[in-house]
Amino acid sequence: MTTFLHPGDHGYDAARSIWNAMIDRRPDVIARCTTTADVVEAVRLARTQNLELAVRCGGHNIAGLAVPDGGLMIDLTPMNTVEIDLERQTAFVQGGALLGELDRAAQRYGLATTAGNVSHTGVGGLTLGGGMGWLARRFGLACDNVTAYEVVTAAGDVVRATAEENADLFWGLRGGGGNFGVVTSFEFRLHEIGTRALVAEFTYPLEAAYDALRGWRELNRTAPREATFTASITPDGVTLGYVWVGPLGSELLPQFRALGPVQKEYVEAMPYLTLQTRDDSIQGHRFRRYWKGHYFKSLPDEAIKALINTPGVSGSLQAYGGAIADTPDSDAAFSHRDTLFEFVTSARWEDPADDEARISQVRQYAAALTPYAQGAYVNTLNGEAIHRAFPPEKLARLAELKAKYDPANLFHLNQNITPAILVG
Ligand SMILES: Cc1cc2nc3c(=O)[nH]c(=O)nc-3n(C[C@H](O)[C@H](O)[C@H](O)COP(=O)(O)OP(=O)(O)OC[C@H]3O[C@@H](n4cnc5c(N)ncnc54)[C@H](O)[C@@H]3O)c2cc1C
Repeated sequence: MTTFLHPGDHGYDAARSIWNAMIDRRPDVIARCTTTADVVEAVRLARTQNLELAVRCGGHNIAGLAVPDGGLMIDLTPMNTVEIDLERQTAFVQGGALLGELDRAAQRYGLATTAGNVSHTGVGGLTLGGGMGWLARRFGLACDNVTAYEVVTAAGDVVRATAEENADLFWGLRGGGGNFGVVTSFEFRLHEIGTRALVAEFTYPLEAAYDALRGWRELNRTAPREATFTASITPDGVTLGYVWVGPLGSELLPQFRALGPVQKEYVEAMPYLTLQTRDDSIQGHRFRRYWKGHYFKSLPDEAIKALINTPGVSGSLQAYGGAIADTPDSDAAFSHRDTLFEFVTSARWEDPADDEARISQVRQYAAALTPYAQGAYVNTLNGEAIHRAFPPEKLARLAELKAKYDPANLFHLNQNITPAILVG
């Protein structure tokens, strides 16, 4: 049964607080849904009362799209059931679950599916935008592992989308974000991955960063799919490494040691669940945040020079490729599968007086890298135009689909796709 919360009610402030502490919006009403029928009721209420509607899962969207100013927020967080079907190797996951809830349930059996790197992120927003994680090079993105969605549409209908049933909607939900309705449940394919992972990180001083990054780029060309290459660039130097999930291999370690004068080395085998929570604190909730992202389809030397010339902020790279690129781009809304590395530059701080300076540093760094970028991940867009995430032909198809499922753009607090004007 839905609990409706209004300003002043116990729990109202907790429900509207999200990951980015810069966001302080006050919905007129929060509908804390526990069933699909509750979601239907809330969607109908928003439509009939003409209330601006937003949908909240993990609350990690950087721009705070989960929370409307005024209007109605559907809070899916009470809908966090995860059920594992061992025989079919699938997970049934309600639309408000967090990644940690999925990972923990599946790992009891040595199973997992692609999920992001911070356990308090929502399965909902992450998967609807694509879903990148340490297993993606082996098994595809999170959305590539979804076999069925249950969706409450703008009309208040409950529909199922699979490769066979409502196949157009299934296509759009795989990367098209929250545009087509409220997803009340996902069914994921699971994989036997065991329970162990390895993290390797090597830090090189700034003087050696250019050569080390060039060597790292070359090594990445032949990286096994178990390994996802990572780079962290700071004003003091670079940390290059990889995360490995699978039967543990250490054959890459000597090659990393040969990339330059290693200042610091961190190589640690750990449980997969530890890997999936190791950034939870540093990525915790009480900070003000800003980020910008790019997709790089190649990493020319000039881009490496621009990368290490940071304006006092840090940036990171995470490798794509492998199974992500195996799926033809036309198979799903998710685009730019030929990405080589995803780049993100981000800042966190606490004092609102620092907002302007911190935001401006991030923007400056991202702008210096724009000449080398080709597109961006829909889930890292932060105020930029949607066409960064989808090429024109994809966007046109998405706009048609939006016109079919949400012609009035009820679901617009998201990485929004404008409905195509229906002809005839
Ligand atoms: C700390 C951190 C780590 C991250 N790590 C990764 C990572 O490793 N890999 C990766 O791919 N991304 C990552 N991201 C980006 C992440 O995918 C997006 O921020 C995403 O929007 C988070 O989803 P959420 O459910 O937590 O967010 P919310 O803010 O709750 O939702 C974002 C939007 O998604 C839509 N939405 C959410 N759930 C539903 C639903 N059930 N039905 C319909 N619409 C829904 C809504 O439109 C909502 O506006 C990370 C983000 C953060 C902040």
